[in-house]
Amino acid sequence: MIEGIRYSKCERVIFKHNSLTDLEAKLQAADPRAPKIIAFESVYSMDGDISPIKEICDLADKYGAMTYLDEVHAVGMYGARGGGIAEREGLMHRLTVIEGTIGKAFGVMGGYIAASTALCDFIRSFASGFIFTTALPPALAAGAVASIRHLKESQVERFAHQERVRRLRNLLDKNGIPHLNNPSHIVPVIVGDASKCKWISDLLLDNCGVYVQPINYPTVPKKTERLRITPTPLHSDADIDHLVSALHQLWSRCALARAVA
Ligand SMILES: *Cc1c(COP(=O)(O)O)cnc(C)c1O
Repeated sequence: MIEGIRYSKCERVIFKHNSLTDLEAKLQAADPRAPKIIAFESVYSMDGDISPIKEICDLADKYGAMTYLDEVHAVGMYGARGGGIAEREGLMHRLTVIEGTIGKAFGVMGGYIAASTALCDFIRSFASGFIFTTALPPALAAGAVASIRHLKESQVERFAHQERVRRLRNLLDKNGIPHLNNPSHIVPVIVGDASKCKWISDLLLDNCGVYVQPINYPTVPKKTERLRITPTPLHSDADIDHLVSALHQLWSRCALARAVA
């Protein structure tokens, strides 16, 4: 999305993360006649927080802006048909463009935008990055169709996913392992030290057979280095117990602070 904005060579203004006040101030300051598009995400990948989609759409209406919502961390996982947070909140019709990926929850590869026929046609005709790239091979397209068809109907995975997340969070709480409390499936366990974060991640993999990626600067600000845990619907009780008991021991070895219940 950022590359797309750069490539458009349009003027861009950055608003403070999820701040409606700041967004409104920036919209107010903009030329009322200039075409505008507000680009944002639903579930944010590193903190797992969720944007106020409805309120942003209200501001877009008020100031005559279009909206572009990146739902890559939500498609397949939220909404009755896996359309994302905007579907869950009944807001899909209010967005100009919704972007999704087939590479995360859908487990294949590729991506899409959903917008009006005219807008999709325009992008098909003018987006050089799209025109000059090899299309998805039939095997991937077939995999994507199968996966989307399944997750459009089945709620089993979405319910199990949320339940697994609750179980993980409860167990982390019981063990005093601090994690960001957000309304999504992304469970960031804050380590706050780049080398310890990498070290814990290596030990988890080498000694415990658990793969959890360390997230260090520049992906997140310094001092907020973290392990980013995203349980899947298929992780068992034993898997989650194993992860948390490993973290419990590593927390003591690294002399990291516990959260107070
Ligand atoms: C993963 C990701 C994408 C796109 O992923 P692809 O691998 O290109 O399908 C877009 N936006 C965000 C925030 C992402 O994390």
